[in-house]
Amino acid sequence: MKYVSTRGAAPVLDFDDVLLAGLARDGGLYLPQSWPVFSAAEIRAMRGLSYAELAARVMRPFVEGCLSDAELTRLCAESYGAFSHPAVAPLKQLGHNQWVMELFHGPTLAFKDYALQLVGRLFDHVLKKKGQKVTIVGATSGDTGSAAIEACRDRAAVDIVILHPFGRVSEVQRRQMTTVLSANVRNVAVDGTFDDCQDLVKALFNDAAFRDEMNLSAVNSINWARVMAQIVYYFAAGVALGAPDVPMSFSVPTGNFGNVFAGYAARLMGLPVDRLVVGSNTNDILTRFFEGGIMKTDGVVPTLSPSMDIQVSSNFERLMFLSLGGDGAAVAKLMDDFRKNGAMVMPQGAWNAMREVFEAYCFDDEATLAAMRSLKRSTGETLDPHSVIGVAAALKAHAAKDCAMVALATAHPAKFPDAVEKATGVRPGLPPHMADLFSRTERLDRLGNDAEALKGYVRTFAGRTSA
Ligand SMILES: *Cc1c(COP(=O)(O)O)cnc(C)c1O
Repeated sequence: MKYVSTRGAAPVLDFDDVLLAGLARDGGLYLPQSWPVFSAAEIRAMRGLSYAELAARVMRPFVEGCLSDAELTRLCAESYGAFSHPAVAPLKQLGHNQWVMELFHGPTLAFKDYALQLVGRLFDHVLKKKGQKVTIVGATSGDTGSAAIEACRDRAAVDIVILHPFGRVSEVQRRQMTTVLSANVRNVAVDGTFDDCQDLVKALFNDAAFRDEMNLSAVNSINWARVMAQIVYYFAAGVALGAPDVPMSFSVPTGNFGNVFAGYAARLMGLPVDRLVVGSNTNDILTRFFEGGIMKTDGVVPTLSPSMDIQVSSNFERLMFLSLGGDGAAVAKLMDDFRKNGAMVMPQGAWNAMREVFEAYCFDDEATLAAMRSLKRSTGETLDPHSVIGVAAALKAHAAKDCAMVALATAHPAKFPDAVEKATGVRPGLPPHMADLFSRTERLDRLGNDAEALKGYVRTFAGRTSA
């Protein structure tokens, strides 16, 4: 499979180079040159496969030419073998034709594990083949850092340094990162805010000499391999509910648009997806877009669902490219308008095409708490403040009521105990395999908000084996 950039001006690459590159050289995002489509018979033949087997079946066309079937099958078995639920992504029924898919049974209790567990192994595998090593540097305000650390720990070809703002992440989130004591993992607590952490990471990547010296890399949400791995659970839910013979819709709590875009990709690949419902918190740029056709930034407001507190949904560019008929120059022009003016107007045809599939709803913190309470009352289920926005959006959706609706639960309630307790009166406990989190040994280094000091730190850490 070959990959093209959404801005049409970067070299066409193979899967392994797309994996390592992340962002395309023209500033665009990579997408497959053509979409593999499964026939009805092929989808029917997915029934009864384990999650890991299904993952290999769905992703095989995307990695063809770079990974053998045996290698892909082994990496999928390793990635999903350690999840804490035997179904990996279990479905629960909430009501008539209403389902929730729990995507929080990975090592860090958020859906990001479903992609990153595989992506960490893919990095290691491809780098070893090429005889290379990378240093991954990233900043986190909570969830992404721990999922990236769990994905990269103990991998020979990867060192990882994750920055978090000192004293500004929750204790569960901090401990999920700092109790990983692997030799190739470092946590840095920065005296500053999350934005300071992001600026430090940018400063390192913008220093070309340092970037090359350390072979810096990132595993952020625009990486195609993360989207690819997320397509799998849409097929898992679809096949369990009767695809290809019956259609279904999905409702997705959305931030960077990576998760819901994977649902759109599953639809392109032959899964009978009727509608995709986008749920947001007070940061409602996507709701306003799907209502009015204009994407316009506003300031970011902190909410109870911090992983959806976004200003710009980076993966939306992939939907734009497809809706504009693969016109990279048109995407580049719109993205340029957006960068300059903080707004862009979608051409009518593209917007209409999007609205045939997508609808969007937003909920403020009060509505989020009310939805958690109401769900608990009617079904006994407790969901975290991100996941419940998916359920609430599903209930509002215009999707056909005679068609199954699956809301994606993106985090375990124990990751956000304060909000859950506020809504339901019950403080959720950590699952058994993490019950000792608060007694595990932590390791972290504290640094000032200083790019030169950070460069020295990374150099010493990444150079340790060759010294
Ligand atoms: C990252 C995250 C999201 C948003 O997912 P996107 O792919 O960025 O849209 C939603 N919920 C939780 C819990 C997350 O960690």
